Amino acid sequence: MKSEVRANVEAWLEYFSDLKIAPFYLDRSSSSESLAHVGAGSSAEKSPASARPTPAELRRVAPNPFVAQPKAQTSAPLPAIKSASLFEAGERVMNDSLELIRETIGDCQRCRLCKQRNTIVFGSGNPRAELVFVGEGPGRDEDIQGLPFVGRAGKLLTQMIEAMGLKREDVYICNVVKCRPPENRAPEPDEMETCSPFLYRQLAVINPKAIVCLGAIAFQAIYGEKQSISRLRGQWLEFRGIPMMGTYHPAYLLRNPNAKADVWEDLKKVMAHLGLKVPSRS
Ligand code: URA
Repeated sequence: MKSEVRANVEAWLEYFSDLKIAPFYLDRSSSSESLAHVGAGSSAEKSPASARPTPAELRRVAPNPFVAQPKAQTSAPLPAIKSASLFEAGERVMNDSLELIRETIGDCQRCRLCKQRNTIVFGSGNPRAELVFVGEGPGRDEDIQGLPFVGRAGKLLTQMIEAMGLKREDVYICNVVKCRPPENRAPEPDEMETCSPFLYRQLAVINPKAIVCLGAIAFQAIYGEKQSISRLRGQWLEFRGIPMMGTYHPAYLLRNPNAKADVWEDLKKVMAHLGLKVPSRS
């Protein structure tokens, strides 16, 4: 085995071991089944593990989240959200699309973060994803590559996604602010206020079945007020009709590996909500 491949496999095994997961990864058939299932876009429909969904199957009818919708079916009742967001109005656009949002952002100079950024990190992944992860803002690697979560924390996020039986390409990943805050400081409230409307439009266009907020900043931007992530993590809330949950940021997990088990508990709830097979031995 090549040393690079070996290192990847070792990192992966270490991740599962940190999560105290029994070696379910020996049974790959269960995860490919789950993957086909998510791609097909319905937790009720079962696809054979070998059948990849067609583009038409991937295309879910996306009701407008800003129009009153029947309550989403979740595994547990959703507590009422306190407020939808700090920055409620002003970002609703008819016939919106990810392309249009990116075009609107343009070569953004709306806040001071533009001064030191190299690249605007818009977001990446499946534009019809059932699951969206929202982070805080790009770091150094993301700023260079123009893609979210590609540094160390990003590698951990990729492992988390794979532990769910998914691939990065199945989900959508984006951030509250699209430009790197200097020295990786937390985004300031006015920077969040300036950039969040683009995030809300992304979420409205994708209209996923679930949003996972990674860390307190993402949770604040979506929940609408500052909250302790350790208190509210793992609880289903709603963002404009879309079930959302907060959990710890992967960068926090790099510093506190013991918290990986908590995050895994949260992700299992998300898996159950999406109709993915939850490993029974973990
Ligand atoms: N941390 C984030 O919150 N987002 C990224 O894209 C990378 C690291």
